[in-house]
Amino acid sequence: MSYDPNNIFARILRGEIPANKVYENAHALAFHDISPQAPVHVLVIPKGAYVQMDEFTAKASAAELAGFLGAVGEVARQTGVDKTGYRLIVNNGENGRQDVPHLHMHVMGGAPLGRMLPRS
Ligand code: AMP
Repeated sequence: MSYDPNNIFARILRGEIPANKVYENAHALAFHDISPQAPVHVLVIPKGAYVQMDEFTAKASAAELAGFLGAVGEVARQTGVDKTGYRLIVNNGENGRQDVPHLHMHVMGGAPLGRMLPRS
C-alpha cells in the first residue's frame, strides 16, 4: 500500500489536528486513542511514513526502530499498565482491519481485556 500523506495520523504529526499526547521522542509519538476500547488505550506511531509493520521493519533505521519500541515501553510505564498487564495490537492491511494507513501500535490495559480474538 502506498503512503497517503493526508491520513489522519500524518496530519497529527504535522500539527494540523490536535492529539492528546502521552509521550514523544525523536522517532515516535504516543497519544490517547480518540475512541478508547479500554481504560488505557494509547496509540504509538513512528514519525516516518510507514503503513505496515513489515514495511517499517524492512526500511526503518535502527534509531527509528529503537525509538518506536522504546516509546511503547515508555507508554506502558507512564500509564501504569506495566504493573497490571496490557495488550499490544498492530492491525495491518485489509485482513488485519487496519483503518488508518499509518503504522500504529495500540497499547491497551487498565482492566482485564478478555480473549485476544472472539471465538466463532
Ligand atoms: P486501526 O483500526 O488499527 O487502524 O485503528 C485506528 C485507531 O485510530 C482507532 O482506534 C481510532 O479510534 C483511532 N483514531 C482515529 N482518529 C483518531 C484521532 N484523531 N486521534 C486519536 N485516535 C484516533
